[in-house]
Amino acid sequence: MQMPSRILGIESTAHTFGASVASSEGRILSDAKRVYIPLAGRGIHPREAAQHHSSVADAVIRDALRDGETEPKEVDGVAIALGPGLGPTLRIGATIARAIASKLRIPLIPVHHAIGHIEIGSLTTGSRDPLVVLLSGGHTTIAAFAGRRWRIYGETEDITLGNLLDMFARSAGLASPGGPVIERLAAKTDNFIELPYTVKGNDVSYSGLLTAATKLLDAGAPVEDLCFSIQEVSFSMLAEAVERSLAHTEKDEVLLVGGVAANSALRNKLEIVANEHSAAFRAVDQRFAGDCGAQISWTGTLAFRCRLFVDIERSQVKPRWRLDEVEIPWR
Ligand code: AMP
Ligand code: MG
Repeated sequence: MQMPSRILGIESTAHTFGASVASSEGRILSDAKRVYIPLAGRGIHPREAAQHHSSVADAVIRDALRDGETEPKEVDGVAIALGPGLGPTLRIGATIARAIASKLRIPLIPVHHAIGHIEIGSLTTGSRDPLVVLLSGGHTTIAAFAGRRWRIYGETEDITLGNLLDMFARSAGLASPGGPVIERLAAKTDNFIELPYTVKGNDVSYSGLLTAATKLLDAGAPVEDLCFSIQEVSFSMLAEAVERSLAHTEKDEVLLVGGVAANSALRNKLEIVANEHSAAFRAVDQRFAGDCGAQISWTGTLAFRCRLFVDIERSQVKPRWRLDEVEIPWR
């Protein structure tokens, strides 16, 4: 019998530098990370985030190997998130991954970050053929698998749901990332303030909602009420788009993945929609909802089985890599 493989995965697409070891039996042996936090009231500064990542990379990778009880010589391949994401932070992770692959003489495995979110969600929930709702910093995307690719059924026409939450939190002077703080404040009230609701077909648009909420904040509306109302409106918009996509695709599972999946008000709304269509509702294990090395090490393991490697000379980062460009042989 073949020995189980061990893949080291590295994530550096945005705010998080993560490293993880996964085994081919589907066990996440370790998941180490350090997160860059922008100064209060500011968004991610790509160069500062890259400096953060290069200063923590060595420690994070050592932690991942130690926690995973894995010696460098036991690693069979290095998986790296080559995109989509911020050029400067992607290049830090890619440079380190290339160096490790070259030094250890093992394959370099390219991973699409969004597919990482989906596969770690599938692993941790046992989901097989779901309608995926991917809500991370960079994606607000509804997708289903058909003909070897993830096909996009709905998405945001402008900013992502995560951006909406983070940008509103920033204008309200709340801590970063905004999502968890907004969730806490929203839970304190049920005073609803009307805000723009924009759904076009299966797509959503959040920029008008952000502008309106920011104006009301400046005019003195209570921040808790705005947090509650932003969640209500933005989550209901998404629920409507998910419902349409579900009716269209007739999938019998909904799988929620990405950092925003940590939000329980959102999970409740989507669960209701799924149940109304007799679909099971599953959400990624909270530990792996946000960006992490585990999403890359596990997807790297699936790719390793199919020998999907990239030559170092051709392993340039892809800041704008689209989910539906990637062919997936393992599904
Ligand atoms: P990711 O890019 O997958 O790490 O996701 C990051 C996004 O998840 C950020 O926009 C966060 O504000 C958001 N997020 C994290 N926790 C929560 C939460 N409890 N509720 C809503 N959004 C959240
Ligand atoms: Mg992400």
